[in-house]
Amino acid sequence: MSSAKIVVVGAGVAGLTTALLLSKSGHSITVIAKHMPGDYSIEYTSPWAGANFFPFSTAEDLARRWERATYPELMHLATKVPESGIHVQDANIYVAEGLPVTPFMQDLVDEKPWFEGLVHGFRKFQEHELPKGMVSGTTFKSVCINTAIYLPYLMGQCLKHGVVFKRGIVDHIADAAGMHFSGKKADVVVNCTGLLACKLGGVEDKKVVPARGQIVLVRNEAPAMYTTSAVHDGDDEMLYIMMRAAGGGTILGGCYQKGNWSPEIDPNLANRIMKRCVDICPELSGGKGVEGLDIIRHGVGLRPWREGGARIEKEVINGVKVVHNYGAAGWGYQASYGMSEDTVALVKESLNIPSKL
Ligand code: FAD
Repeated sequence: MSSAKIVVVGAGVAGLTTALLLSKSGHSITVIAKHMPGDYSIEYTSPWAGANFFPFSTAEDLARRWERATYPELMHLATKVPESGIHVQDANIYVAEGLPVTPFMQDLVDEKPWFEGLVHGFRKFQEHELPKGMVSGTTFKSVCINTAIYLPYLMGQCLKHGVVFKRGIVDHIADAAGMHFSGKKADVVVNCTGLLACKLGGVEDKKVVPARGQIVLVRNEAPAMYTTSAVHDGDDEMLYIMMRAAGGGTILGGCYQKGNWSPEIDPNLANRIMKRCVDICPELSGGKGVEGLDIIRHGVGLRPWREGGARIEKEVINGVKVVHNYGAAGWGYQASYGMSEDTVALVKESLNIPSKL
């Protein structure tokens, strides 16, 4: 097996999954990151995610292929690897009465969606099963990831496979080639810097902007995960409920505010989020409405949205071979394995290694 020296910049779900897959191919990996699992920062998206598998790709495109590749991996972890902090949950998707469907929800709310044959237990709801204000809906078996467990789990798996982690801030992507733990120049650098790819020297991708998400984490339990085709409060707001595995609390969301960098909690938005959630799922607070919610904390995360989709590409920057894996917006977990597999294939191409090795 050939072993190359690789530096992965970034320790979010993209960097960790890519480092893990690369290390399983026998390469010598260093992960350099400003933020690591355990940190909470507005510059570090992964800890804030729900996170679940609600397919959002809108055409037979790469994102669809990545989601298709990732569902079986996440289901495997949920059913066979309890220490990953992922469990199986019903995903209930409803069409709200009298509201045009929010554009990015279009394929998700389809009654015969592209993922019907991929996911387990897909079916249409009967009329009597619908919550108030909903005209139709579908459900399937999805997963909910407790990110506070899953990110350290991925890191632990990387450590087990010999990956070395170092804290550091990379000013220019080519500089990362000099940061391999061996002290020797890396053969390839993998760029998994998420939203900050828009600021990183040598990359400065202006197509990347934040899609701000605000959440409320509560102790209350939900019988399933919920989302709707639209909400009454505008196209950049949405409704989702996701109960995380292993006592991780229940995430209530949300919004999708493109171009908004604010880390501040908007209290009015928080109230709208909670109200929408208890309206569709009164069981969440035992019928006591918003008053019955037991709040752990409020949060804001910035999704790395990229015009034209995520970037999995290779290029040479200042003589350094670089492979990019960033820009997964609101689907970085549910596409993580597919994206990382394509990244690994490009690393192998850069190293002139046949893809089967
Ligand atoms: P990040 O997690 O931001 O990691 C970037 C890494 O790069 C960090 O370690 C950072 O420190 C490092 N870095 C950046 N620049 C530098 C530098 N110059 N030098 C050194 N290190 C650097 N996705 C789903 O699949 N399902 C969901 O249900 C879901 N829900 C979400 C809900 C919310 C509220 C939010 C905010 C997001 C949600 N997402 C969801 C999206 C998902 O969280 C993101 O797509 C994913 O976390 C992006 O991961 P990343 O590794 O690309 O970026």
